[in-house]
Amino acid sequence: ISKRLAIVPEDATVRETEKILMSKVPKEDWIKSHHRMIFWGRYQCMTRAPKCETCPLLEICQEGQKRIK
Ligand code: SF4
Repeated sequence: ISKRLAIVPEDATVRETEKILMSKVPKEDWIKSHHRMIFWGRYQCMTRAPKCETCPLLEICQEGQKRIK
């Protein structure tokens, strides 16, 4: 999710992704953010068939904009 939304570089490792997210999200929101991203990936932005057409983040998501062209 963080790669699709370009929050972290496409080639970031798991550890690098974790470090970047920890630096961007306030510590008190880490657990909530973790669960939000899991559920986002499970119900909206699935690996094989993300629901870009109905996504509220489409306007800021380059990946989604590429997919609906
Ligand atoms: S627009 Fe598509 S790729 Fe981007 S976050 Fe939404 S569902 Fe995921």
